[in-house]
Amino acid sequence: MGWIGKNSNLINPKNGSYFFIAELILDLELEPDAPIKDYCGTCTRCIDACPTDAIIKPYVVDGSKCISYFTIELRDALPAALMNNFDNWAFGCDICQEVCPWNRFSKPTAEPDFYPKKEILEMNTEEWNEISEDVFKKYSTIPSQSSRL
Ligand code: SF4
Ligand code: SF4
Repeated sequence: MGWIGKNSNLINPKNGSYFFIAELILDLELEPDAPIKDYCGTCTRCIDACPTDAIIKPYVVDGSKCISYFTIELRDALPAALMNNFDNWAFGCDICQEVCPWNRFSKPTAEPDFYPKKEILEMNTEEWNEISEDVFKKYSTIPSQSSRL
């Protein structure tokens, strides 16, 4: 399917890294294809661009420094020392994918459920900062891309 890039994402040479991985369970004998080569080469764009230095060395992301971890998985308060590095990310952080040259080959989805909702895009910073639990629940049931305030 691809190779694991230095940003630790699976990268496909024809689609970049913006895709879901799925699995088919079959009762067929299939001929496996050969592993793909690593095409990261000398590139270090993802490492250089990560705002929290979470890619501590090529192919290794320290989850305890990653904005995606803080904004999606962490249940406690955000660490004060890193607050200024979040660059207004509200859910996830795709910088290490945005800067990856292979994502020039990524294709927009044709699935309308994955399009960002107009109501979310129209929210301003104040509305995000004061979001109620009801509104959060309403929007968090909608599939959406990573979002920045
Ligand atoms: S998602 Fe953001 S914070 Fe996490 S490794 Fe990538 S660039 Fe760094
Ligand atoms: S930005 Fe460069 S080093 Fe990082 S995953 Fe993409 S090709 Fe590899």
